[in-house]
This record gives sequence, structure tokens and C-alpha cells, in this order.
Amino acid sequence: MSETKLRIVTSQKPKEKPSADNLQFGKQFTDHMFTMNYVAGKGWMDPRITPYQPITLDPAAMIFHYGQTVFEGLKAYRTQDGRVKLFRPTQNLLRLNQSSQRLSIPAIDEEQVLSYLKKLIELEKEWIPRKEGTSLYIRPFIVATEPNLSVAPSNLYTFMIILSPVGSYYAEGIHPVGIFVEDEYTRAVKGGTGTAKTAGNYSAAYKAQERATSKGYAQVLWLDGVEKKYIEEVGSMNVFFKINGEIVTPELNGSILEGITRKSIIELLRKWGIPCIERKISMEELYKASQAGQLEEAFGTGTAAVISPIGEMNWQHHQMIINEKKTGDLSKKLYDTLTGIQTGLIPDDMNWTVDI
Ligand SMILES: *Cc1c(COP(=O)(O)O)cnc(C)c1O
Repeated sequence: MSETKLRIVTSQKPKEKPSADNLQFGKQFTDHMFTMNYVAGKGWMDPRITPYQPITLDPAAMIFHYGQTVFEGLKAYRTQDGRVKLFRPTQNLLRLNQSSQRLSIPAIDEEQVLSYLKKLIELEKEWIPRKEGTSLYIRPFIVATEPNLSVAPSNLYTFMIILSPVGSYYAEGIHPVGIFVEDEYTRAVKGGTGTAKTAGNYSAAYKAQERATSKGYAQVLWLDGVEKKYIEEVGSMNVFFKINGEIVTPELNGSILEGITRKSIIELLRKWGIPCIERKISMEELYKASQAGQLEEAFGTGTAAVISPIGEMNWQHHQMIINEKKTGDLSKKLYDTLTGIQTGLIPDDMNWTVDI
């Protein structure tokens, strides 16, 4: 980096904070944002915290035309005794760089960016709601800003971090959802961009999500893009199954996004002495297990919901009911443990949280 000293310009017009009972995901933002710029040949420069504000871009900015962009999602949690914690933030910054590498975007310095992020959270800590289950969602992202219609990597980028207070994912308590197994549209293929958090993966999934929604299902279950046989992810979450006492999750095959929640669950299960196997799982196998009464639990995992139990699946007109549409014991235990560690209710002996 050429110039790394953080500038801070504070807002003279702080906004009114929304009530903790009335938080909608990703619609309200805090008073400040973080920005830094990249210029090819010079590196990242001018890191600054400023009042939250719209940005101006040239209509030819490359992000608008070829989608060269990456993002991350993590949360800051308030503990009962008023401390503030981040959950494995370095993992998110490492993954941001992995995504960037796939999209030919220059890497950021993870340690430096973590220090800027901590400063930003410190400045905005009154925005972290206090009600149980609430948190402050953190969205770091990078966009290509060079005004140039050539199909080539940009020479200019802007990195920003914005913050949004979010309500409890489970306002009415953790509950299972129904999912529709998508066998027409594809989310990602090996060699594509599925392992990167990049915009196009998400907009390309809307069509399938629309169909699932219209059939009354909450999420799409994605199959592999080549054979349409093997399970990949559910919505924007990784997925786990408990089959006949064994925990299985799809192996990282080059098209699945490597979730930090996924990784944490595998590590927790190992610590508890519960084997968790990463392997290929076909829909056929899952259906047979369900028919034999051996599909005991199913759940999605991600930062937003932590654990999202699956109570029902629809695959090629076969309906599969899982655990009588109730949250399974293991799903509940994992949810309680992870959220407990994140909010300081349970000692963090995995050393996952970072105090601000
Ligand atoms: C972000 C994301 C996940 C979950 O990752 P976490 O780090 O656990 O939040 C899973 N799948 C996709 C496609 C994602 O974008």
C-alpha cells in the first residue's frame, strides 16, 4: 500500500437509529462507511472513514458492464455485558482475497483492513442493536471503477465497507423451512465462479428462487451443474445432513462456496467427537435414506441464519418430510453453541471471536 494512514471524517448529522423491533435486512445503514482506492501500479491508497453517502461513478465504470466485483458478509455482535465481538473476521478477509483472485481483482492486506474495520465498528458501536438475536451486518466489497468498455481487468477499484443493523433471523424462534430441489437452472460449475462471492452468482439464481417461491418453498437446493445428481448448496448456504447417525456435507468440489459457518460446524463436530464426512451426496441417496427413515436431520448454514433447519424437500415431485418438520437436536445444539460463542454466552475456547 502506498498510503495507509487512516483518515476519519465524522458525520455532523447522525441519523436516528431504528428501533430493534423494526429492523429489515440490509435496508438501513449506519452513519459512516469505510473507503479506499486502488490504482494499478500504485496499490491501495487513501483509507478513510467518512459519513455514509452515495458515490459517484462514471457510466462507463467497468463494474456496470462486466461485473468485476466481490463481496463479503459478517457480523458484529453485542454481548450481554456490553462488549462487541466479531466472529472469525480474518477468515472473511482471506476469502475476499480468494474471490478477488478469481475475478482478477488485486488483493487487500487482510491485517490492515481488519484494523480499519475495527476502527469503523468502534465508531459505530451504538448502532449494534441490543435485543437478543440482533447484530450489525458488515458488508465489505470491491468494485471496478475504471471508465473503460474494454473487456479486461480494471486499473481502478474502490473497496468499501458499509454496516447495517439487522434483526433476529428467527423472530419466532428457529424453525424448519421447505426447499425445492432445482434440476433445471445451475448455480455454478467447477472452473466457474461458484467458489467466489461475486455478484453474478446471485442474480443468476433469482429465476430458480422465483420458481421455488411460487411453489411455496423458502429456498432452492442446488445440484451439480454437470450431472444434476449431486447436492451442492441450499440458497446461499452450505448444507449438512444427518443420515443414520452420520453427519455428511458436500465436499468442496470447485463450485461450492466455502462457508465460514460450514467450516466452524465441521470443527465443532470434530471437537465433540462426532464424525463429519465431506463427500459427494447424490439426491438419489438422500431420497433412499429418507424412504428408509434414515434421513434424521438436514440444515443449511451461513452467517445470516447460522443454522436453517430443513423440514421438507421436493425433488422431481417426490416429497420428503424430515424429522416431522421439527428442528432436530443436533441442529439446535449447533445453533445454540455457535450463537452462544458469537454473543459471549458460551466461553470461546475455539478462539474464534475478536473483541473490539
Ligand atoms: C456466503 C455464502 C455461504 C455461507 O458462507 P458463510 O461464511 O458461512 O456465511 C454459502 N454459500 C454461498 C453461495 C454464499 O454466498
